[in-house]
Amino acid sequence: MAASAPTIPSFDAPELAELKRALVTAAHVLDHEGITDGYGHVSVRVPGAPAFLTLAAVSPGIATLDRLVMLDLDGNRLGGAHGAPNEWPIHASVLRARPDVESVCHTHSKWSTIFSVLPKPLQTLHHYGKFLPAAGVPIYRQAGLVRTVERGDALAAALGDGPAVLMRGHGDTVVGNCIEQAVMRTIRLATIGELAHLALQVGEPEYLTAEELESYASDERDPKRGWEYYTQRVAAARR
Ligand SMILES: [Zn+2]
Repeated sequence: MAASAPTIPSFDAPELAELKRALVTAAHVLDHEGITDGYGHVSVRVPGAPAFLTLAAVSPGIATLDRLVMLDLDGNRLGGAHGAPNEWPIHASVLRARPDVESVCHTHSKWSTIFSVLPKPLQTLHHYGKFLPAAGVPIYRQAGLVRTVERGDALAAALGDGPAVLMRGHGDTVVGNCIEQAVMRTIRLATIGELAHLALQVGEPEYLTAEELESYASDERDPKRGWEYYTQRVAAARR
């Protein structure tokens, strides 16, 4: 008997409620931290299914539960609000190529954009960048929005099996094994970009080597702690 196709829950299924709340919070956090602006989006895979939830063509800072959409990996709308992000193939292609990834953030981060066009790679000069490749974050060089699966697949190829890819003249795409990790990595990538930019004004930084980064015990062993911090900040700002 042929294996049956995985079941995709309905958009309103109770089992998705917590993920949807986290998705909205993630969007608010990235906006509050100044990483997204009117554009950018976060997605999360529908657990075990060839589908994902993301923002329904709404700016991250004003995302709400009724401005989410569920798409399959071909971009077909399965439920939720109308209006998928123009760049939905970023999420579909990365989630298809990377079974280990559960969440994807795409931003137009100014720090990632700077390093997407410089002749110098974005390398790590703080242990917050422990998750990044010591040799530098790869760059997807094709200009233009990622509005086709062909471009999405090229972006996923540039990402490879890594945590992040810069997009030339555009921003970045960052992945994680959960929403919290993807958001924390996105914030830390921006921090590393800002620090590297400042350091380069003075001289050539002595970047941390892979071996040195490995010696740090911090970073991702407790991503919930950073998540708690950032969610409290955004909650306080919205009271
Ligand atoms: Zn974009």
